[in-house]
Amino acid sequence: MKPRDMLVGRCGWSSAPGLCHTISVPGLEFRARVVIGYPPAQIGRRQARLCQSHEFTRTKNRNREMTDFRAIDDLDVAGRTVLVRGDINVPVKDGKVTDATRIVRLAPTLTELAQKGAKVVVLSHFGRPKGGPDTINSLRQVLPELEAAVGAKVAFGDDCIGPRAKIAIGKLAAGSIILLENLRFHAGEEKNDPAFAKALAELGDIYVNDAFSCAHRAHASTEALARLLPSAAGRLMQAELVALGRALEKPERPVAAVVGGAKISTKLDLLGNLVRRVDKLVLGGGMANTFLFAQGVSVGKSLCESNMADQARAIALIAKEAGCTLILPVDAVIAREFKAGAANEVVPVSALPDDAMMLDIGPASIAVIVEQLKACKTVVWNGPLGAFEIAPFDGGTNAVAQAVGALTRDGVVLSVAGGGDTVAALGHAGVVDDFSYVSTAGGAFLEWLEGKDLPGVAALGRRG
Ligand code: ATP
Repeated sequence: MKPRDMLVGRCGWSSAPGLCHTISVPGLEFRARVVIGYPPAQIGRRQARLCQSHEFTRTKNRNREMTDFRAIDDLDVAGRTVLVRGDINVPVKDGKVTDATRIVRLAPTLTELAQKGAKVVVLSHFGRPKGGPDTINSLRQVLPELEAAVGAKVAFGDDCIGPRAKIAIGKLAAGSIILLENLRFHAGEEKNDPAFAKALAELGDIYVNDAFSCAHRAHASTEALARLLPSAAGRLMQAELVALGRALEKPERPVAAVVGGAKISTKLDLLGNLVRRVDKLVLGGGMANTFLFAQGVSVGKSLCESNMADQARAIALIAKEAGCTLILPVDAVIAREFKAGAANEVVPVSALPDDAMMLDIGPASIAVIVEQLKACKTVVWNGPLGAFEIAPFDGGTNAVAQAVGALTRDGVVLSVAGGGDTVAALGHAGVVDDFSYVSTAGGAFLEWLEGKDLPGVAALGRRG
């Protein structure tokens, strides 16, 4: 990564004068040279609050608008063969689909294209086949669910490229749908192999990508293929990109990000991107403990990555430079056991007993956060604010999620959330339907929050 711009900043960690720090915060490429400092021996953890001048560089970020892609409305599909990359990698047990959400969410794109007179060819991966076709990973088993979702008969092709695919598509009438066999039965798919992409492109006239959840992977069906045919986003991809665009690309300000979860080490890129894009960053969950520790707070037996303290301070510095207010918990629900119903009490974060752990944010923190969010127009959320799976440590996540849900219902904020645990936490709080948009895309959503270019989105056709 090449440094793009140079800033002069101040930060709150200590070191010897003239010492050159390299603090690894991916996405920020943080190199600091201490201009004024103090010998480390004189600086206790609790006193690590001295400001020193530093020079640092930061790296490039996603700079292309995600919302200028072409959509189905920009295509003339009547009588054309349209290849639709969907994500129907659904969970299956004993040959039966146990959660058809992805299929149901893909159906509107397929139905719309069929109604417009296209021959619709559905491409997807399924499972993790190793080196060729097998029955366990055959897409044939999801056919009944797909037919139920689109309310029509769907043909099946035993291969996704070559003569068998061509013959099956050749038999298709305009306005009909065919599902082709698992893309990952061919090694070329995951290798983004141009020859495999060319074989796919030979099957159709137009390419529609409706698999945002796969857009972070540069695979042949998500990346190379998009460059070989006229391409556009499907309805599901479109909804996701519009929602994400409104949340971070061109948001109504002020924008707040609520970030929780267990560890900062898994979210360095995400935090590094968000502090430069949002006006307020609310931190909760285990990762807030690390930020508190980095400020010299004694965190007892709480989950804390003490080896990440430098990174936490670096992120706090970038936030300050960027004018982003960091909001950390001021009190916590603490316990001595990590189990449901464990004896617990609320204490200020500065008064944590050495043998206790912070398992949730406390009522004063909830009040501060809700007050701050009320003044915002956009809220982006990833990660629970406490150990939400075990009562009563779900209280903070529930209360803040319900407040954001109510603010959204009242038209005060636009709210976008995503991530596996986050969707579960919002479901637990009963507010999934209250949020403006909840992304189930997992990895792709997180990479978008990290500010990365998503290959499957970058390759899509652009307007103008
Ligand atoms: P996703 O990105 O999929 O939404 P996430 O980033 O929220 O997930 P994790 O980083 O794994 O996922 O964090 C979620 C886990 O963190 C939950 O299991 C939750 O119990 C745990 N957790 C949150 N706060 C605390 C805390 N204060 N102490 C211990 N564990 C915590």
